[in-house]
Amino acid sequence: MSAHNRIFRTIALFLAVCLAAPLPVFARYRPTQGSNAFSREQELQAGQEASADVLKKMPVLPDGDPVTLYIQHLGAQLTAHAPGEQWPYHFRVVNQKEINAFALPGGPIFVNMGTIQAADNEAELAGVMAHEISHVVQRHATRAATKQMNVQMPLQILGALLGRSTVGQLAAAGISFGAGSYFMKNSRQNESEADLIGTDIMYDAGYNPRAMADFFTKLEKEGGANGPQFFSDHPNPGNRAGSVEKEVRTLAAKSYRGSSAEFAQIKQRVVGIKALTAQEIAAQAQQQQGQSVKGRLPAAEFPSRSVRTFNHNLFQISYPENWRVFGDKTSSVNIGPASGVSESAIAYGVLISDFQPENQNAPLDAATHELLNSLRQSNQDMKQVGHDEDIRVSGINAKSVDLIATSPVKDANGQPQRERDWLVTVPGRNGNLTYLVFIAPDSDFNTLRPTFEQMLRALRVK
Ligand SMILES: [Zn+2]
Repeated sequence: MSAHNRIFRTIALFLAVCLAAPLPVFARYRPTQGSNAFSREQELQAGQEASADVLKKMPVLPDGDPVTLYIQHLGAQLTAHAPGEQWPYHFRVVNQKEINAFALPGGPIFVNMGTIQAADNEAELAGVMAHEISHVVQRHATRAATKQMNVQMPLQILGALLGRSTVGQLAAAGISFGAGSYFMKNSRQNESEADLIGTDIMYDAGYNPRAMADFFTKLEKEGGANGPQFFSDHPNPGNRAGSVEKEVRTLAAKSYRGSSAEFAQIKQRVVGIKALTAQEIAAQAQQQQGQSVKGRLPAAEFPSRSVRTFNHNLFQISYPENWRVFGDKTSSVNIGPASGVSESAIAYGVLISDFQPENQNAPLDAATHELLNSLRQSNQDMKQVGHDEDIRVSGINAKSVDLIATSPVKDANGQPQRERDWLVTVPGRNGNLTYLVFIAPDSDFNTLRPTFEQMLRALRVK
């Protein structure tokens, strides 16, 4: 080999190294820390306890199932590029029809069968998973819990409580993680962060990050019965495609990989799988609990699947056939199971009423807050959890607010339980608000949630 040739090869090698190395000018979104009362161990423990609960209550496919193995394989390719503190990720598949996915503190991630069935290519599926991984990276659930607890108690007491953390003690402080719990409902700020980190993870794993935004947009456009649950847990921060695109532009152009042969095989397999609806899953969990909602609602009062329609002057709503309606077409209305509702009080079910704001031209936002203040005057311990969210009801813009209060239902020790109240406000006639409060003791709320969501979907404001 001549000297000339050697120099040439050295330069060529140098150039190749330079081109292959990631250039520092292409920045990644840096994970944020934020205030968090949970240590790493507590984060892991909280996630494991919640995961055990999910495994008990939901139809989770076994770890050896081919669909699960595929999701775990895809997940490992993505988590290899997860930034920040490293967590023991574990992916599982829930045989549920609604398109959704959720991440528990410290690494457990669940992907619904409906999501796999709806993904048109591997990058779309990877997008949902990268987004969930980002919620783990950012520790969004325990940060939200910390925020809420800071409102309720001083940080020292909180620290002491967490120091001897068991699921029962956390629950006593009103903290629970799991599908549909308060702290699993993400704020729009959390959603933007998860989209940005998800974009970087996708890019680094070789998938086109735009597929993540495409899937969310497609889901929103299609609407339908299987999409809304995702947006209830992962509210749209607005212009998802735009912010993904902006992040992609900070990264070097590259060619992305297409779907794998495994994806095609799995798609074929899942087409033939009958996934359960949220309502079917709730009914099964209720049966396992011994014919009652946590032992309080008699089996006969568990919401039946067939519905009746109630016509009010201001709205029309469908409700489970075996539930009762108190009120008439001109008054406030309570709808719920016989032992959970009366003319004047409600422990289980929905209250529907009308509210006249001070200023009849107030925007929905301001009118909703005025209503909240007035509700708090009669329920002093009622607290808002998280942010209010924009949702669509009956084709119009509405607001959704999560609240906690004290339930009239006592626990096994005779102590009052925490109640969960889900407030939805819809613009009514003459500047009034029509509002619904879906009510249940916290421990039973998720069992009734699919029924409540179905009632809201069927609501028509006149
Ligand atoms: Zn999310």
